[in-house]
Amino acid sequence: MIAGIELGGTKTVVAVGSSNGSILEEWRFPTTLPNETLGQAIAWIRERGTPDRIGIAGFGPVGIVKNRETYGKILATPKVGWAGFSITDLFASAFPACKLVLDTDVNAATLAEAKSGAAAGLDDVVYITIGTGIGAGILSGGRLIHGALHPEFGHFKVPRMTGDDFSGVCPFHHDCLEGLASGPAIAARWGMPAHELPSDHPAWDMEAWYLAHGILAVVAIVPPSRVIVGGGVSQSESLHPKIAKYLNQITAGYFGFSETDGFIVPPALGQEAGIRGALQLAIS
Ligand code: ADP
Ligand code: ZN
Repeated sequence: MIAGIELGGTKTVVAVGSSNGSILEEWRFPTTLPNETLGQAIAWIRERGTPDRIGIAGFGPVGIVKNRETYGKILATPKVGWAGFSITDLFASAFPACKLVLDTDVNAATLAEAKSGAAAGLDDVVYITIGTGIGAGILSGGRLIHGALHPEFGHFKVPRMTGDDFSGVCPFHHDCLEGLASGPAIAARWGMPAHELPSDHPAWDMEAWYLAHGILAVVAIVPPSRVIVGGGVSQSESLHPKIAKYLNQITAGYFGFSETDGFIVPPALGQEAGIRGALQLAIS
């Protein structure tokens, strides 16, 4: 038996799966305080047996580098009660004989999309999520990218669109990509939540322009074969072709992709990507 947990900022998903990583049963519930949330997940898994392996896909920032003091802990999050909390300590004491594999929620979603989603069969994939925050998972040469931390795509500094004097909503950097282009940034800039803005509103051209500049950075450094753009905000109609248009403009043909070659795509697994990725982590 294997188990997976996707620990999200607002909801948590826990699942048990078979040895090939497919979901046998899953349960979704709201993320509250750490002991309560993870305690519920552990109790649910226990009712179904004792797993040999557990994949944990956690919201960031989270310490995912083994042998570091920060390993297994949620780091500088504004989420009440979570900063400094060790996810792995709790799981290790609940399931002492079990192998734990921890990664970020976006890295897990990247793995799932590359296994059986919008980038099936590809080894070089970037998955970007635009919701309450902005994050990215990177699969390069078939391996998920980590370093001293994990990718922090949302906090990359992008150029300013001419005439844009919005201060930005990132509490750390103000006008990083997340500060200028996340869901809360759109809502603050235009005085209306992103999901209520019509698809022909100028907000979406600006959104696509900023995202294209962020994507240019990953494309120039990692060279993925495909970029998946997901998250709540990506559901705006025709955002993907708009991003492709701007990416094509600003790269001026240099990278050899075109507006219509399917380089920028929506995710295929929807709500299931994170938890499927957590199970993939467990068997990795
Ligand atoms: P979270 O980041 O909390 O997991 P989501 O990925 O669902 O949540 O992102 C929430 C953001 O997505 C909100 O800012 C919301 O306004 C925006 N959003 C949700 N649906 C749409 C839509 N159809 N079009 C554009 N924006 C949307
Ligand atoms: Zn920032």
